[in-house]
Amino acid sequence: MGDARRVISDLRELAARTSTAAGAQRVAWGPTWREARAWFRAKVGELGLDVTTDAAGNNWVTLPGASTKSVLMGSHIDCVPNGGWLDGCFGVVAGIEALRSYAGGQRPPVTLRLVDWADEEGARFGRSLFGSSAAAGTLALDDVRGLKDRSGTALVDALRENGVELEGVGRAHAELRALDGRAYLEVHIEQGPVLEAAGKSTGVVIGTFGVERHMMRFTGQAAHSGSTPIAMRRDAFLAAAETALACRAIGLRHSKPGAGVVCTVGVVNVEPKIVTAVPGVCEISLDQRALDAAVLAAMNREAREASERAARANDVTVEWQHLWRIDPRPFDPALLALCAEAVTEETGEAPHLPSGPLHDAAEMALHMPTVMMFSSSSRGLSHCKEEDTPEPHLERTIRAFLKLVDKTVAHVAAG
Ligand SMILES: [Zn+2]
Repeated sequence: MGDARRVISDLRELAARTSTAAGAQRVAWGPTWREARAWFRAKVGELGLDVTTDAAGNNWVTLPGASTKSVLMGSHIDCVPNGGWLDGCFGVVAGIEALRSYAGGQRPPVTLRLVDWADEEGARFGRSLFGSSAAAGTLALDDVRGLKDRSGTALVDALRENGVELEGVGRAHAELRALDGRAYLEVHIEQGPVLEAAGKSTGVVIGTFGVERHMMRFTGQAAHSGSTPIAMRRDAFLAAAETALACRAIGLRHSKPGAGVVCTVGVVNVEPKIVTAVPGVCEISLDQRALDAAVLAAMNREAREASERAARANDVTVEWQHLWRIDPRPFDPALLALCAEAVTEETGEAPHLPSGPLHDAAEMALHMPTVMMFSSSSRGLSHCKEEDTPEPHLERTIRAFLKLVDKTVAHVAAG
């Protein structure tokens, strides 16, 4: 059995080496990220294991077993600028501990592999899940070829600095397929307030949300705010505001215990933006997320109907522009059962929750049975230096994760 305390002290060591007073600075493709990866290489080297890098820059560690059938563990050592000490690297360092618990003893019955995915965050170039989507075969090169960071550096050049050729990253997919992966396990902090609010340290993640992301543009008529009677206005903002409230009601109506959905109006642009003018144009964004594809589709349809009703009521028009969507990725039932067993053995119960944020596991779920485990997040904060989790919660989650690895190894060996 591994040592949960050592995982925490390793995480503190990594944070000390790669953070400033403003937080963790392991932004992918940069010097601090390379330093973090060198630290990872050294930690793994202590176990007598090597790190290999695939065509997309993902770092792999392999502990050969009696069978080539493989149990994969993964997460990401990169973070957002001024990030926290746990997001991503928690799963990587817990994975090192799982390898350590097998490296000293007899050859495991199946092969164990740990992956540190490259650029999960997309913090610099705006494309999240870079390495895992390349490995999953879902990265469209045309979408990323022209990306530049804020200082004008091209993605292709940043990759090249790290030994990765953009035109060749697709080979990472063939490399993944050659690994004989039978299960993918990822432990991560929740990055939200649900577990903490319920007083739980550890949760079983049932899948990652599907997302529908759109802009709505309401067009009415700008007019003088003093001379135009309320009943005669064509106020685009009011139509947008009524739609936003309706979308919240739609989300609340579709939320069930254990199957929550979320929706957010995060952008509001209004024209002419003058205190003495009725708004003639208003644009709002809508981001809807749910684990059930039918629920997500219904929420989206109802939001459209609500926007059309609000437009009619305010004598304006509405147009929708699609921004982005992804299907829900529910996790594997057999691995969910093993995960629930492991969490129950460690904590006496197994709360289940969906993941609102996307994770590398969502890409792996396309290719092999996948499951995730969450540790609570204090005040639900993440992507900031205040990100934290009480150490007893981390320890329980690490022990539960190590149990999940053992159970999955036995499950895959028997399968
Ligand atoms: Zn993360």
